[in-house]
Amino acid sequence: MTVNQSPAPAEHADSASGTEARIDHTTTKGTFTLDGETHEVENNAWVLGDDATCVVIDAPHDVDAVKTLVGDRECVGILLTHAHDDHVRFAPELSMALEAPVLLNPADQEVWELTHGDLPWDDDIEDGDVFTIAGLDIETIATPGHSPGSVCFYVPARGCLFSGDTLFEGGPGATGRSFSDRPTIEQSIRERLFTLPEETVVHTGHGPDTTIGAEKQTAEGDWA
Ligand SMILES: [Zn+2]
Repeated sequence: MTVNQSPAPAEHADSASGTEARIDHTTTKGTFTLDGETHEVENNAWVLGDDATCVVIDAPHDVDAVKTLVGDRECVGILLTHAHDDHVRFAPELSMALEAPVLLNPADQEVWELTHGDLPWDDDIEDGDVFTIAGLDIETIATPGHSPGSVCFYVPARGCLFSGDTLFEGGPGATGRSFSDRPTIEQSIRERLFTLPEETVVHTGHGPDTTIGAEKQTAEGDWA
């Protein structure tokens, strides 16, 4: 995986391996715990890559399910959208299984520590970091609010966004618990996500896909 500081979106999605980039997806079932409450949740796990290499986006409840999506490809990184335990509890185990580094925005350190104590992640991700995988640039967009270190991953050449728990079908992610802030998430979405093309497909952390255009419409009638 290469990290560039100046994004240069790919014209097409042909990768070095000559195979086409694709997105693989599965859902996992488990729990989310915060503020002393535990809830049953279903999470989306995403793998973006070609036949040779890939990245995993988030590490929810089922290491084997994600390993199956990766198959025999080289996984060059596990990109975390934020550090809530339903997205990161299995990150160290998945990292060992795939021999891939775990990447997290350090603004979520306190949230990470709730699950993993002083066990470190491998590399920091910051706003503006660009990763290139399978001929595709993945741009990191910091979207604090659901948690201080929440990020989204935008893939311009695919016209898609991996939004974690920042933006769902129907509106912003939850902000009722510790480390969350509703005005901050609204500002993140308005200024950083609603400025993306309306047709951008949003792959969320829980539940169905949506689009930037659809969520802008919802926001007009409700919260924006
Ligand atoms: Zn979350």
